[in-house]
Amino acid sequence: MNRKQRKRISRIVISLVLFILLLILEKAGTLEGINGFVLFAIYFVPYIIVGYDVIVRAAKNISHGQIFDENFLMMIATFAAFGLGLLGDNQYEEALAVMLFYQIGEAFQDYAVGKSRQSITDMMNIAPEYANLEQDGEVEQVDPDDVHIGDIIVIRAGEKVPLDGKVIEGVSFLDTAALTGESVPRRICVGDEVISGCVNGEGTLRINVTKEYEDSTVAKILDLVENATSKKARLENFITRFAKYYTPVVTIGAVILAVMLPLFFGLGIADGIRRACNFLIVSCPCALVISVPLGFFGGIGAASKIGVLVKGSNFLEAASRVDTIVMDKTGTLTKGEFKVQSIITDNGFEEEKVLELAAYGEFNSNHPIAQSIINAYKNDDSDSTKENHENEKSLNMEKINPADTKEIAGFGVETILDGKKLLVGNAKLLKKENISFKENNTVGTIVYVAYDSVYAGCIVIADSVKDGAKDAISSMKRTGITKTVMLTGDREETAIDVSSKLGIDEVRSNLLPADKAGIVEEFLNKKKHSSDNNMIAFVGDGINDAPVLAIADVGIAMGAMGSDAAVEAADIVLMDDDIRKIPTILKIARKTMKIVRANVIFAIAVKVLILILSAVGLASMWAAVFGDVGVSVICILNSMRALSVKEDFSKNTY
Ligand code: ADP
Ligand code: MG
Repeated sequence: MNRKQRKRISRIVISLVLFILLLILEKAGTLEGINGFVLFAIYFVPYIIVGYDVIVRAAKNISHGQIFDENFLMMIATFAAFGLGLLGDNQYEEALAVMLFYQIGEAFQDYAVGKSRQSITDMMNIAPEYANLEQDGEVEQVDPDDVHIGDIIVIRAGEKVPLDGKVIEGVSFLDTAALTGESVPRRICVGDEVISGCVNGEGTLRINVTKEYEDSTVAKILDLVENATSKKARLENFITRFAKYYTPVVTIGAVILAVMLPLFFGLGIADGIRRACNFLIVSCPCALVISVPLGFFGGIGAASKIGVLVKGSNFLEAASRVDTIVMDKTGTLTKGEFKVQSIITDNGFEEEKVLELAAYGEFNSNHPIAQSIINAYKNDDSDSTKENHENEKSLNMEKINPADTKEIAGFGVETILDGKKLLVGNAKLLKKENISFKENNTVGTIVYVAYDSVYAGCIVIADSVKDGAKDAISSMKRTGITKTVMLTGDREETAIDVSSKLGIDEVRSNLLPADKAGIVEEFLNKKKHSSDNNMIAFVGDGINDAPVLAIADVGIAMGAMGSDAAVEAADIVLMDDDIRKIPTILKIARKTMKIVRANVIFAIAVKVLILILSAVGLASMWAAVFGDVGVSVICILNSMRALSVKEDFSKNTY
């Protein structure tokens, strides 16, 4: 609790004690016969103690020309009640009660909003305060901003990893819970990549920094989190607009009520005003204005608890209606860690040479295929244990000029090695370049190599499906996803092999990146002409996937392995690339929408009922206070349910 909240609580307590005291005195008859003005003063003191800020805010708003808000409603309702009191009708008690309960509701609301924000700020705790920079054998604490690519930093046990990098010394366990919601620590050793925001478990690590702070994982997440709540759901926008027109309409309604009832229905003036006051109190829209954004906030918070970043409530709203999930293959459904299976040579080239050429070709590529080929070349041992570096070969970086290298999406790479053209890619690439070669039909992904227009051979590599990918697909179906589709640039044989292992409904292979966007567009168009309001999600990881992520109704990217472009273009980011979290996030989205809709319906229904009862004089002021504060509290409590998430999502119960 901060100072402001503490102050408000003490004001509420003082006023409440006085209120109860006055109630007792009233019941005992002690207050009878006291002069009207003295009585007014007696009630006005606790009233102003608890409510002065409401009056001040209302006055301020009026001076700014923004008259109609809840402060205004509370002010005129209570002033009117005091006015009636002065006219001889004992309404002081009611005026005090209304303000008191209104403030209790506000305090509660503050608490609830703070609590929901907590789960999101918990994520903010990943921000590192410092980095231990190693320079000339000495370690110095510096701002993470002052560390640059290639610098060496030291991370001691218990410290946060301040920047992304590669381990060059040490073995440890990393706690990635803050980023991924995954509580099992990850073992890391020399050669592993570490991402900022994790906490180092036990050993000391020396790390070669690979990204500037502003490009690091932690900086990007913080940026996303900060912007997450600025993108509003349609329902949220609707409520805001609604509140803007609603309050003035209600105020005018109350004035009409106060005038009309005495005029046409022979009611006393005081009675008319009293009904109008009830009308004003109950019509306060705060139950909706607070609980609807709070519900969405809770949903985003729940997602962040399991390591899923939702970039705005609008995406949560869209995700709740997804019924078709289109997925990329490599890196999304499969690990993207290719292993070299075999090397087939031709035209007098040796295996060793084919692998070396391929490694040079892939040198500047970020494609998962590239990494695996380079690793295979550097460390011939297929089971490349990281501690063993004896037979490591190195590539002479100077032989390749990055400027000569062209990565052709969906085909492979083309570069110049020792003045001659080197091609590394799929069959389409060699055909495009009119190179004669023998096509290989083994199951797996085939990387063909051609040097100086001569076919040198091919490398058969194989990826494996992600752990839990099968569970993820069946869990999606249980969650009500009617269609799962896999898209890939890979060969048909491999595509069918993977999709049948996972139980995917539809497969499209041999696609260029632009084809993927075309297919999703085609699905979107079909949806447009159908009557259901359902949506399409696309899940991907690569740079090439960014345009598809952007056009899909809901774009979901892999945060850890995925390219920056993909993470940027996506609406939802899975921090740990675990696609089992997709069905969970769909459930969170639906639950959030259910809660928010229930609040809207409940609040409006209760309010309309009490409004009508107030108009005809059947609702007491207590009913009006319930209609305002009571409904708010109930809606807020309901909204807070959105924040909770079943933690056992990984145990297949989802
Ligand atoms: P996916 O759709 O499975 O994610 P991509 O669109 O990234 O695959 O690539 C499609 C195909 O293009 C790959 O299966 C591979 O044959 C070829 N390819 C793309 N980039 C490279 C590369 N850097 N090296 C070799 N082959 C590549
Ligand atoms: Mg891909």
